[in-house]
Amino acid sequence: MMKKVTTTIIGGGFSGMICAAFIEKEHGEVLLLERLDRLGKKLSATGNGQGNLTNVNFGSAHYFTQTLGERDKIEKILSNATDKSLVQFFEKLGGLFSADERGRVYPTGRQASSLTDLLRYHLNAGKTQISLSSKVTDIKHDGKYFILTVETDQNQEQIYSENVVICTGGKAAKNFGTDGNGYLLAKSFSHTVTPLYPALVQLKTDARKTKSLKGIRVMNAKVSAYEGERLLKTTRGDLIFTEYGVSGDAIFKLSSYVTQLTEKNSVTLCVDLLPEISEEILHTTLLEKSKNTSLNRQELLCGILNNQIGRLIMKESEDVKKIVENVKKFPIKVTGTLGFDYAQVTKGGIPLSEVNEQLESKRQKGLYFAGEVLDVDGECGGYNLQWAFSSAVAVAESLNNKHKPRGQV
Ligand SMILES: Cc1cc2nc3c(=O)[nH]c(=O)nc-3n(C[C@H](O)[C@H](O)[C@H](O)COP(=O)(O)OP(=O)(O)OC[C@H]3O[C@@H](n4cnc5c(N)ncnc54)[C@H](O)[C@@H]3O)c2cc1C
Repeated sequence: MMKKVTTTIIGGGFSGMICAAFIEKEHGEVLLLERLDRLGKKLSATGNGQGNLTNVNFGSAHYFTQTLGERDKIEKILSNATDKSLVQFFEKLGGLFSADERGRVYPTGRQASSLTDLLRYHLNAGKTQISLSSKVTDIKHDGKYFILTVETDQNQEQIYSENVVICTGGKAAKNFGTDGNGYLLAKSFSHTVTPLYPALVQLKTDARKTKSLKGIRVMNAKVSAYEGERLLKTTRGDLIFTEYGVSGDAIFKLSSYVTQLTEKNSVTLCVDLLPEISEEILHTTLLEKSKNTSLNRQELLCGILNNQIGRLIMKESEDVKKIVENVKKFPIKVTGTLGFDYAQVTKGGIPLSEVNEQLESKRQKGLYFAGEVLDVDGECGGYNLQWAFSSAVAVAESLNNKHKPRGQV
């Protein structure tokens, strides 16, 4: 028998679940299709399993897009469904939230999976039909309905739908069902996709320099990224030396600014290993210390820096001026990123110029997009779940208006 619904949401991740939750009862039948065997697998892994839902330092300045002249859309969508609306929504579902010193908002139980549970209970109590292990492999439009081909473990079926919302995420972390297939579904309606890059990701560096430092964490480092002489961005946070390069929250934040340049091998990081100590104090201390003839010169930075880093710096030069420069601007050449499999988000996606302010396609009426599949990515700190929420609310509101019962304004 042919299945017919008012709206089909493809993808039971954060934006898909939020969209389903915000579509009102009067709208008509809503079908939520998820290719994996559970809803919200990625949501349950967010924030190191603690669920960094949003950030109190909310605002469009924390977002990137490659679509020129379309920042107003981001601004409007965010201001219609803010960090406060997001928290209030989850409070209504029964959660409690608190923010840390960096403004990152978490559920008080610090369990990301509890966010998925609250949403799941809410959807199960409503009238959304949920189909798990159901992958959409094709969409067409016959002039009246979208015709979706859905593959399940047992069979293949076709669904007729008046509207379709693509909430398939990007192509970061494909073990959560996000391998970029949503872009292909969009391309069947002549949509384009901007260049895609992994973001919020570890960086590969010239291993000759950093490999020997593997495992060392520099707390609260100040890391600046340069392309040639041009400063791209400075961040503060932890930096961890690894087998392949560098990781840690300072690097994750920077990755959003440098990912598109890494292929050119033109990015250098300058790490201030002692941001709380001025160059003058360091210089005076080292000059004083170097007068001590009984001290092995190689150990000049002992008690000031991690010994391994200190010895590496001392190998480069024993001149105090140069040592200070190396401590305050420890240079590391970036050679790439760890790639989409390790990234938290995708930079790039469906251009904002191809959708209207409610995120409905300008190429095919009734086709909508929400979440990471669009050409919007946020900084580290809860901004990506916030975008998934705000964009999904915009779509749901548009669908609610479109399918208002007659006579209702
Ligand atoms: C490890 C990790 C930690 C993160 N931590 C944070 C954090 O703390 N805070 C934050 O703001 N952001 C975080 N992010 C980013 C955030 O999770 C995503 O930006 C957000 O989930 C995007 O929501 P979405 O609905 O667009 O996509 P997703 O949540 O990725 O959901 C897309 C869903 O679509 C399904 N799907 C794909 N194709 C099909 C298809 N053809 N048919 C049916 N289903 C399909 C997928 O299986 C998936 O379930 C993290 C990401 C990762 C990987």
